[in-house]
Amino acid sequence: MKLYGDYHTHTIFTHGHGTIEDNVKMAVQKGMKQIAITEHSFKHLAHPLKKKNWAVMKAEVERLKKIYDIDILLGLEANLLSEDGDIDVPEEILKEVDILVLGYHKLFWTTPKAFFNFLVPNTFRVGKASKKRIEKNTLAYIRAMEKYPINILAHLKYANCEVDCVKLAKFAKQHNVKIELNGKRINFTQQEMQDMVKTGVDFIIDSDAHDSEKVGRNDHAISLVIRGIIPASMVCNLDQKPDFTRR
Ligand SMILES: [Zn+2]
Ligand SMILES: [Zn+2]
Repeated sequence: MKLYGDYHTHTIFTHGHGTIEDNVKMAVQKGMKQIAITEHSFKHLAHPLKKKNWAVMKAEVERLKKIYDIDILLGLEANLLSEDGDIDVPEEILKEVDILVLGYHKLFWTTPKAFFNFLVPNTFRVGKASKKRIEKNTLAYIRAMEKYPINILAHLKYANCEVDCVKLAKFAKQHNVKIELNGKRINFTQQEMQDMVKTGVDFIIDSDAHDSEKVGRNDHAISLVIRGIIPASMVCNLDQKPDFTRR
């Protein structure tokens, strides 16, 4: 059982500790065929990618492609910004990304309206989410998938953003969006995983490495596969090349 590629990694361009080359080297060392560099997009509050660095990263990836025998994808980890499914990747950069990961994070720059009706009721909520809140969050993800070429839903249910992950899995299956088993956090209950498996959605195992040592590593997800909770055949990057074509 081997990862074909790791499709969610960070570098010094945001708050990772390694360079793009460090991540690439580690991926090569681990025998992977693909690696994606997916920095936090521009409206992440604490560690956003600086717009001027997009071109710098592009040039660096082009340089490394000539040196290393591995397919390097340059993407972004977009922030879900509102109930309307807005994200923080401008049109001109959207055209250039090889892969698009979407995540809800604790803090991000958004409109005053979305700050009060989306960020605050999630990030700063005390206690369980209401049914209505879960519906709104789920719809926010669905709208984002409708509007943008999202390939991967990262760390669902992180930072208090409760969702109906089975409903999302059904939608994701139809549109060929992958549900991530994140290397830092898997917040699904056993029941949710069983129910998502029934939808036939593709899962993807990513490290979300902020340190090149961790590229290609995700022991928790691998253990879910070994224990038979997630069938290996449903993990699109286990021993096979994932198809990211959006439908
Ligand atoms: Zn994230
Ligand atoms: Zn990340």
